[in-house]
Amino acid sequence: MVRLGHLHAWLRSARTWSTLGVLAPVGMVAVTGLMLADLRRDAWDRTEQTSRNLLQVLERDIARNAELYDLSLQATVENLAAPGLAQADPQMRQLILFDRAATARDLGVMLVIDAQGNVTDDIGAVPPRAGNYADREYFKNHQAHDGLGLQVGRPIVSRLTGERMLPFSRRINRPDGRFGGVVLGTVKLSYFEHLFREIDLGPGGAINLYGADGTRIMRYPFREADIGANIAQAPTFRRFVRDRQGSFVGTSARDGVERFYTFAPIGTLPLILNVALSTRDVEAAWLTKAVTIGGITLVLCGLTVVLSLLFGRELRRREAMQEELAALSRTDALTGLPNRRWFEDRFAQAIETARRDGRPLSLLIVDADHFKRYNDRYGHPVGDAILKALARRLAASVHRPEDLVSRIGGEEFAFLLPETDGAGAARIADKVHAEVAALTVPSAGIGAGSVTVSIGLAWAGPGGGADLPDLYRRADEALYAAKEGGRNQTRIAAAQAPAPQRSSLQLVGRA
Ligand code: GH3
Ligand code: MG
Ligand code: MG
Repeated sequence: MVRLGHLHAWLRSARTWSTLGVLAPVGMVAVTGLMLADLRRDAWDRTEQTSRNLLQVLERDIARNAELYDLSLQATVENLAAPGLAQADPQMRQLILFDRAATARDLGVMLVIDAQGNVTDDIGAVPPRAGNYADREYFKNHQAHDGLGLQVGRPIVSRLTGERMLPFSRRINRPDGRFGGVVLGTVKLSYFEHLFREIDLGPGGAINLYGADGTRIMRYPFREADIGANIAQAPTFRRFVRDRQGSFVGTSARDGVERFYTFAPIGTLPLILNVALSTRDVEAAWLTKAVTIGGITLVLCGLTVVLSLLFGRELRRREAMQEELAALSRTDALTGLPNRRWFEDRFAQAIETARRDGRPLSLLIVDADHFKRYNDRYGHPVGDAILKALARRLAASVHRPEDLVSRIGGEEFAFLLPETDGAGAARIADKVHAEVAALTVPSAGIGAGSVTVSIGLAWAGPGGGADLPDLYRRADEALYAAKEGGRNQTRIAAAQAPAPQRSSLQLVGRA
């Protein structure tokens, strides 16, 4: 019950609602923030996974085709040593030389080139299409170095077909080990273009294939000018070379777009492949969600704050109103003094405190003398005016904050004086007589000295606990005695009266 009561009070407090109104939105924002951060992480995780898978699929396809081309080159080199080749007629020679050559849509030319750079055999024509390739980079490399194995060169434009090609080449050694020429196989760059075109990477995405020296072999989306460009100095490319494979977020040297790069070499070839997704694309879907959810959360938080503030304000208004009503219900409307209810509450408390602490407590009951006469003579409104003036005079007779002056009846007032003994209370009573003697109501022609009061005084001192519950009755009896004794005087009920039936009373003075 007590707990429920506490909860009830807590829920009704304006401060509770103001606090909740702030804490709840802070909580909501925090939870939403965590959730959005989590969603963003998810988007990136998915991107990483997808990029890695894509890269792997492309890399395998290219590596497998490259291996096939290389096997074709190696077979042709071997076939050059086939017995009887020199005697074979041109058609037969071509069949023997290229018997194991791979044929595919994207395979370009395949040629045997002699030590002087002249074409001696051509997979595509008998007699071979004439041409000299001594100036080609791959030719010069093989001529200068033995044991280079498979050479993958920079993209070139085919002299035979005019198409862009990637040259694959192997050196031909004479029986004595001297340079005997080159077997050349080219792959059309369109192979890569077709391969990359299948993949949807979003508007800012790109796939790049680079040679080990930084030359761009192919890029998707395709643009003629990109092919053959060298980006060896770009930070992204340095990272490809340094780490060999992995992923990172970097800014493209080509177009300044920030992208998420995933990269790996193609098998053992001097080729580097990367899949790059623009970070904006990666986060676009998330951003839409974040803006929507964030916006809704902020609106809800705003509403919560506003509603809590309004609710708190309403509660405060009600609290203030209740306090005002409570104060009104304890205040006398005519004089503004505490009324009988207030007096009774405080009286009960004061008795309790005096008993507990063993401190004195005094009570004065003050009653206007022959008040009926004023009403009869001047009328009720003047009677009211006198009562108001009297109340002011009485209130002016005490100064300690714990003293309580109240109107407990028509023309009857009570002074509750904690920590005050009989002598102290008697001094207050004298002060009251003096104050009342100075009371005037000029509008009614009532001059000083015409209004008087009678006072009944009772008190209980330390050890006078038995008197405490009787205090009011004894003060009232003392008041009666004062009236009997001729009014305008104070009577003190003797403290700790030995015989409770009969109080002894004492005349202390007339004002
Ligand atoms: P006593 O000296 O014996 O006390 O005589 P008294 O006339 O004062 O006493 P009594 O109890 O006979 O009459 C009290 C009068 O006080 C009755 C009423 O006319 C007047 N009175 C009480 N309350 C009010 C009030 O709020 N306004 C006015 N104007 N008069 C009041
Ligand atoms: Mg009276
Ligand atoms: Mg009276």
